Amino acid sequence: MIFSVHTSLLFDPKRKAFLENVSVEVNSQTGAIVRLNPRRSPELDGPLRAGDIDLRGKVVLPGLVDAHTHVFLHSDRERFHSHQMRDESHVERIVRATNHARAALLAGYTTYRDLGTEALGCADASLRDCINRGLTPGPRLFVATEALASTGGYEMRSENRLARAGSPALNPTLPRASDAADGVDGVTAAVRRRVADGADVIKIYADYRRRAMRFPADVPGPGGTMLFPPDRRPRNQVTPLFSPAELEAIVAEAKRADLPVAAHAGEASTALMAVRAGVTTVEHIFEDSAGVMEDLLDEMARRETIWVPTLATAEEYFDEEKYARCKAAVKAAFDRGVRIAAGGDTGVFNHGGNAREVEILIEAGIPVIDALVSATSLGWMACGGDACGYRFGWWDDGNRADMVALDTDPRTDPKALRKVNFVMKDGRVWKCNGQPVGMVHVGGWPEEMDGASKV
Ligand SMILES: [Zn+2]
Repeated sequence: MIFSVHTSLLFDPKRKAFLENVSVEVNSQTGAIVRLNPRRSPELDGPLRAGDIDLRGKVVLPGLVDAHTHVFLHSDRERFHSHQMRDESHVERIVRATNHARAALLAGYTTYRDLGTEALGCADASLRDCINRGLTPGPRLFVATEALASTGGYEMRSENRLARAGSPALNPTLPRASDAADGVDGVTAAVRRRVADGADVIKIYADYRRRAMRFPADVPGPGGTMLFPPDRRPRNQVTPLFSPAELEAIVAEAKRADLPVAAHAGEASTALMAVRAGVTTVEHIFEDSAGVMEDLLDEMARRETIWVPTLATAEEYFDEEKYARCKAAVKAAFDRGVRIAAGGDTGVFNHGGNAREVEILIEAGIPVIDALVSATSLGWMACGGDACGYRFGWWDDGNRADMVALDTDPRTDPKALRKVNFVMKDGRVWKCNGQPVGMVHVGGWPEEMDGASKV
């Protein structure tokens, strides 16, 4: 069935403009946009037909994309993420994830680029498939399955290693937080494992605080604090996990499988290694100890590498000064023509608050229109563009019919993205007049039990 969604103000990420008086034709069978029909005035050309949706008076955007999420994590304030990985049952984490997916969808997020299950194996691929089969509501998931790190690079730490066997850097009594791989052959095989497990994107830790066991964390009470921590260097500085040859091998194998690569990089110097190796996106970049930010931004602009700065997480973790530095770096990157995609590392804070990242991009000085591009069409690019198998994040014939309507205009109301009135994904409405729609399936007497048929 074809129906129309009538709008009076529609944000177009490709033209970077708000269009007036457009009706969007949608095919409910294919879940795709059929065409855009401009109207001459806010008035409709005829009466509202059955099935049509009237969003005139609202501000309509393409469905939003969060380019960096962890659907299996909830707020660090509620429970620190490594404790969630260690102490929460798989069932609890999966039930929580279904709630997170629902919250995200109702917040207007129709796509998630989910960068690692954090010690839940490949459960993200299964959750993605459950959503795609219509078993539970949620954003369109593009998943990483397990993140790649080198041996001992991204692991849960424990000083109690009595039960350990095999590699000294691995503790088999704790769930594994990454798929550890080393050497050109090793990392190539690891990418192949991720492809085989159903990954949509290869997530790597290009650097991490892998020397955490050298100076274990302080705890309150007598003897809990190290008396003389090093004063010549940070206690747990991040260091690279992969050599340039390993990074290049990861990107080459991901390319063969037609998958994008997302590289976690705390330091600008590691980000530069990853960018030179040809990754699709770089996540975070919170420090520039080596003073290479200028070179990095030039290289990213030249190669069109996308930066996902996860400023919402910087806001959660860092003091005012460091947070301000992070925001200034993102604005400088934007001014140099670096592509910025909005992804909050959502899960570090709770799902449903995804739009905080877009608010911060605007607070950092990025124009509202460009921040909205970061949360729509650039999110699609971060998912791999056409290689991801779908088109979404802007308006075009055949694109997914993902749509969000806001009560207020983000150009004048800094909190507009919190006022989501309407959500459609793949042509199906999930929120209308600010209320959830169709979230619960109420079954009647099972048809197959009417006695007419046998197994
Ligand atoms: Zn993350």
